Amino acid sequence: MPATKRKTKTQPPNDTVLALAKNNKHALREALLAWFAQFQRPLPWRVSTDPYRVWISEIMLQQTQVERVKDYFTAFVLRFPTVKDLAAAPLADVLSMWRGLGYYSRAKNLHAAASAIVNVHGGEFPRNSQALLQLKGFGRYTAGAVASIAFQEPAPIVDGNVARVFARLFAMDADPQSPTHVATLWAVASLLVDGEQPGDFNQSLMELGATVCTPKNPSCLLCPVRTSCAAQHQSITHLLPRPKKQAPRKSLHLAVAVCRQGDRLLLARRAETGLFSGLWEMPSATVTSEQSGPARLHQLLGANAHVAGAFATVERTLTHRDLMLFLHPVTLSKKPASLHGYLECAWVAPHELAALGISSAMQAAIERASAF
Ligand code: SF4
Repeated sequence: MPATKRKTKTQPPNDTVLALAKNNKHALREALLAWFAQFQRPLPWRVSTDPYRVWISEIMLQQTQVERVKDYFTAFVLRFPTVKDLAAAPLADVLSMWRGLGYYSRAKNLHAAASAIVNVHGGEFPRNSQALLQLKGFGRYTAGAVASIAFQEPAPIVDGNVARVFARLFAMDADPQSPTHVATLWAVASLLVDGEQPGDFNQSLMELGATVCTPKNPSCLLCPVRTSCAAQHQSITHLLPRPKKQAPRKSLHLAVAVCRQGDRLLLARRAETGLFSGLWEMPSATVTSEQSGPARLHQLLGANAHVAGAFATVERTLTHRDLMLFLHPVTLSKKPASLHGYLECAWVAPHELAALGISSAMQAAIERASAF
């Protein structure tokens, strides 16, 4: 996951850390490149440096574990082998291939950026990080990853893995969200990547963080850069990086309408903004309590809807929210012509569900409703 935002780039970095990185640059680069050549994991996106495949893998790997991404990546590039295929596909197809990965805005941004690459750049990937940054969904991390791996530009990257490795290598005992710390991470990354094989070097840092310099119990005895590691010398690896301050969690409660017609369920596609935008779901309305569900669903579905009390509850933990879905059986005399907050609605048979983009939480609610 990208650890920083572009605007933090202008903050002054920590000169002491930069000097330490400069003194160790040669040794670090040599050791990491040799180690990566020998020990990198064989991953499906590493068989080529095609910018399209690098891009898809980097976007999928944001917020998602490598093991989980492997199958999704293979299926995705089989279905959309080139950026032109992705741009030509309906967004609904892309969302359906993304189903289960979560953070659907990533898939929507992929689709929008693919269209821009085809329509604005004639189907050719922009070949440098500055031009890539103009595309939807490209932050400094993604632009740096694609530019360095696919086009060998010495563009820096800082994600969670790299930030952890740097914090320990250079004993950076600072608030991980402070602008100076973030600026220092990017300055160190820029300094170190400047040389041959920038793509391999960036990947070696990420790989070290993922497999050796792990969040808990780093394998320092196996580490190719332990002789240069300040945290290892000071025996403070367990203290770094400092933990981030957690943002307070929010709760979201939704009353969900379970409307049936035979074995079909009424599903609606959310409008293109907000949480779960563009995804299919059983029609729902925010509520402050389970008891207010019937009134809110009446408001959404119209006076002809008969809404009963909730028969089940589905709970899910999202990154920053606790989600609770109250499932209400609803009898409808006919399908609504339109629903406020939704682009369309339809009766959907069980075998048609797989083709739709549906969040994991709503998928669990549908399974619960189907079993009822
Ligand atoms: Fe991380 Fe240990 Fe290597 Fe230092 S020596 S970079 S703490 S794995």
